[in-house]
Formats: sequence, C-alpha cells, structure tokens
Amino acid sequence: MSDCVFCKIANKEIDADIIYEDQHLVVFKDLKPASPVHLLIIPKKHYPSLLELNGDDFEITGRINAAAVRIARDMGFVEKGFRLVCNCGSDGGQVVNHLHYHLLAGRELQWPPG
Ligand code: 5GP
Ligand code: ZN
Repeated sequence: MSDCVFCKIANKEIDADIIYEDQHLVVFKDLKPASPVHLLIIPKKHYPSLLELNGDDFEITGRINAAAVRIARDMGFVEKGFRLVCNCGSDGGQVVNHLHYHLLAGRELQWPPG
C-alpha cells in the first residue's frame, strides 16, 4: 500500500534498523522502544490487521512465531523470556494499520498491560 509506513520499510523506501528479513517477513527495531529489546515483526504483504487474514493467510502468523523464537535464541533472551504481542484495532491499541507483532524483551514486563 503506497501510503503505509510499514510497506515503505519493507520496500526500503524509508529507513529502519532491519535485523532480519526473508521472503515473507521483515524484523526491525521499533522507533520508540518500550523495553531494551523492542522489535517489530511484519509480513511483507500488506494486511491492515489480524482481522483481514483468511484461510492460508494465517500461515504468516506461524512464520512470525517461528521468527520470534529464532530471534530470542539468537539474541540470547530465551532463558529470561519475552513477550510477543499483536495489537488489533482501536481498543487493542493498534496505531499502524499494517499487521505487526511486537517482540519485547530485556526487562520484566508488567501484566496486565494498561
Ligand atoms: P501499534 O500501536 O500499532 O501496535 O504499534 C506501532 C509501533 O510502530 C509503535 O511501537 C511505534 O513506535 C512503531 N513505529 C511507528 N512508526 C515507525 C517507523 O516509522 N519506524 C519504526 N521503526 N517504528 C515505527
Ligand atoms: Zn502496509
């Protein structure tokens, strides 16, 4: 989508600190980190939110989970743990309307969130 900031990051039209990329997804550092490690995992394909996935589209959620575990191992925060979260819609706190998962780690996170 032409006016989507995460599509622009995936297409390298705007800069981001990309730490992993493959055929299906891109992982980059959040601009305003909420924890010492705060990464965003996005599909390269534009989906406005989780609600717009249908049928085989849900394969991307498995790929995102697998990428999160791989990154957790590579970056060494498996033992301490992490949080993988997808904000969906306005009550869910979604601001950027391109499906994305937050991967948060590096400090003890509070629960429930505000
Ligand atoms: P949401 O509230 O939609 O789940 O989270 C969107 C996240 O994207 C926020 O944590 C915000 O800091 C991050 N973000 C928004 N615009 C940019 C950007 O241009 N670059 C990067 N790296 N992160 C962004
Ligand atoms: Zn997009």
